[in-house]
Amino acid sequence: MATTILEILSAQRKFFKSQKTKDVNYRLQFLKALKTEILSKEQDIYFALKKDFNKSEFEAFISEFGLVISELNLAIKNLKKWAKPQSVKSSLLTFPSKDFIYKEPYGNVLIIAPWNYPFLLAIEPLIMAIAAGNTVVLKPSELTTNTSKILSKIITKVFPIEMAASIEGGIDIATELLAQKWDYIFFTGSVPVGKIVAKAAAKYLTPVTLELGGKSPCIIDDTVNTKLTAKRLVWGKFLNGGQTCITADYLIVHRNIKDALIKNIKNEIIAFYGENPINSSDFPRIINYKHTKRLAKTLEGVKVIFGGQIDVDNCYISPTLVDEPNLNSALMSNEIFGPILPILSYDSEKDIEKIIWNYEKPLALYIFSNNKAFIKENITKYEFGGGVVNDLLIHFSNNRLPFGGVGTSGMGAYHGKHGFNTFTHNKPIIKRGNWIDPNIRYAPYSYKNLNIIKKMFKWFG
Ligand code: NAD
Repeated sequence: MATTILEILSAQRKFFKSQKTKDVNYRLQFLKALKTEILSKEQDIYFALKKDFNKSEFEAFISEFGLVISELNLAIKNLKKWAKPQSVKSSLLTFPSKDFIYKEPYGNVLIIAPWNYPFLLAIEPLIMAIAAGNTVVLKPSELTTNTSKILSKIITKVFPIEMAASIEGGIDIATELLAQKWDYIFFTGSVPVGKIVAKAAAKYLTPVTLELGGKSPCIIDDTVNTKLTAKRLVWGKFLNGGQTCITADYLIVHRNIKDALIKNIKNEIIAFYGENPINSSDFPRIINYKHTKRLAKTLEGVKVIFGGQIDVDNCYISPTLVDEPNLNSALMSNEIFGPILPILSYDSEKDIEKIIWNYEKPLALYIFSNNKAFIKENITKYEFGGGVVNDLLIHFSNNRLPFGGVGTSGMGAYHGKHGFNTFTHNKPIIKRGNWIDPNIRYAPYSYKNLNIIKKMFKWFG
């Protein structure tokens, strides 16, 4: 008989209370086993991603597998240091004392993953949740069935079910999982589902990280080298078939260089994927029919200036450029999440404001420019999760940087030590000395003592 969600959660609750995961060496042993298992399944993972949406081994390595191994290496190398109680300077007001921050796991963690980087976005939070000493239930995406199966195989092989389990399924399973009481929920996915998760978490006041999406702009001024810019744009926009949460959703290009940039973008698309990208083994497919149809609909009534080939049966949409779509069009009303690039133009910085402030705070913002003042102004003027100057996406790959959204693009962050911190409660502990006990704070209170206390606050507070 299959183990039910309640049975798994109850086993994980009991296991967490057994204190086993508080032992850093115990966690390390599992992280090492996880690495060995993932390395042994490398080819199976590439095969699954290819089958799920024609993702090439090259893209699978640079955007998923390689990042996972690097996260595991970082955790294995640094875990003892990260998990140690951190000693902080004590305060004269608590004299005599030794003050610490204990790194405490939250307990039972639920991770819900999306389909677009189905291996990376499931395993990366799991690594840090385990590193921090939690138990994990992972629900991978139902849309990438092959990758989800491999994920379940890996987790089942490495972990006892009371420490980590993968539960496959769709909305019904996710709903059942969200109805339970967790100690932490880590969700990656769309804004509407993020709201459902937040609401479910609120019932038990469970802390959440929400890694969501939105319409991420890319501003390009007239100081750029249009050929280099075009090459970087085509790489970042069409990687993963445009199905990347932090890709440039649309461009805002200075009118002076717009034509030159478009010409170079067209050339680069052909150089990357050939005249007919459906034949390219490097160009991924849209995840399913439903999303292909959704994307095809957004092309109705807009001015397609390149690409626009659609083959719904093969879940294929060619790299497509759209000129000056209306901000009220279907294409510009929601996150695109596909290989369609709208190109808007600007003359003044007021034009840029009007476009960006038309939307909620995005997950990413990109600026291509050689003008330092323009770059500085745009980095600070707009609120967004994170960004890059003169390239796309690459802030995701440095695990020294926190990754996450702001406003409706998400809350909380992870990657590297930031991920460990996400799954850790910082528990302050003061160890008070007993060798002296000044009477000053005790009743009956005296104004003389109050004056001394006020002076202490002023000098040492
Ligand atoms: P999604 O929100 O549809 O699904 C994500 C997960 O939630 C899946 O596991 C799914 O089964 C589950 N789910 C779906 N509907 C649900 C419901 N009603 N109740 C409970 N759970 C439900 O997202 P997706 O289509 O898998 O992924 C695409 C979205 O994710 C895009 O908006 C993208 O921007 C965002 N995303 C964000 C990041 C990030 O790091 N910020 C990364 C990747 C994707």
